[in-house]
Amino acid sequence: MSELLDVRGLTTGYGDLRVAWDVSFSVGQGEVLALLGRNGAGKTTILRAIMGLNAMHAGSVAFAGQDLRRLPTHKRVELGIGIVQEGKRLIGDMTVEENLRLGAQVRRWGRGELAGRYEWAYEMFPVLRARRGSPAETLSGGQQQMLAIAQALMPRPRLLLVDEPSAGLAPAIVGDVLASLVRLRETGMSIVLVEQSVDFALALASHVVVVDLGRVVLSCPAGADGLREAVRDAYFGRG
Ligand code: ATP
Repeated sequence: MSELLDVRGLTTGYGDLRVAWDVSFSVGQGEVLALLGRNGAGKTTILRAIMGLNAMHAGSVAFAGQDLRRLPTHKRVELGIGIVQEGKRLIGDMTVEENLRLGAQVRRWGRGELAGRYEWAYEMFPVLRARRGSPAETLSGGQQQMLAIAQALMPRPRLLLVDEPSAGLAPAIVGDVLASLVRLRETGMSIVLVEQSVDFALALASHVVVVDLGRVVLSCPAGADGLREAVRDAYFGRG
């Protein structure tokens, strides 16, 4: 079976420090995999390792059949992987459209193609069209999260890694961000979603992986019977 992303036996951390061990999962075209787990379980570290931002001590990561081990982050972006890191790395005093343009820079889009990418982003996130000339720092938290997602989508990735998109957002806004990710999933985008909120993750995911103390403690389809109970048990270390 040819998966888009294949993570096998991944051990990763920061420098010599290991924080996640022997992690394996795969994501097919159009699938959404949710990585769940408590604070400090190692979810962000795993996401960063896929992007080449962390040390890889063992295992392999392949994308579209290509071994990523020796590829620097910008090559992984060129291959078609995008990441939305927690804390939204937007430039606050630049406008919405300028921030989108920053996201587009990894590809040498011509002017017409760039206009097409803006249009795509505004269709996917209509709220950004109305604010296209506003500094990013004047957007609400939810709008900034959508801009961060749109920015990562500008190079037209096939796989999007999203770290805690619901973190720090008011409940009413969380629904808007979720709706935008559902629309994105409907376009056939493959997504790896790191989340603390089980409800948010289950609304989107086709497969769920729970990590605890740096190890996978549960991996199953999102539609599996008794999933919520199994996730809860895995969270509390009884899985
Ligand atoms: P959270 O939901 O809090 O982001 P997480 O599951 O994403 O949790 P990670 O951020 O991957 O967890 O952290 C896993 C472990 O790695 C934690 O013990 C954390 O203290 C450690 N860690 C995180 N960042 C660094 C760093 N830059 N240097 C060293 N250790 C780190």
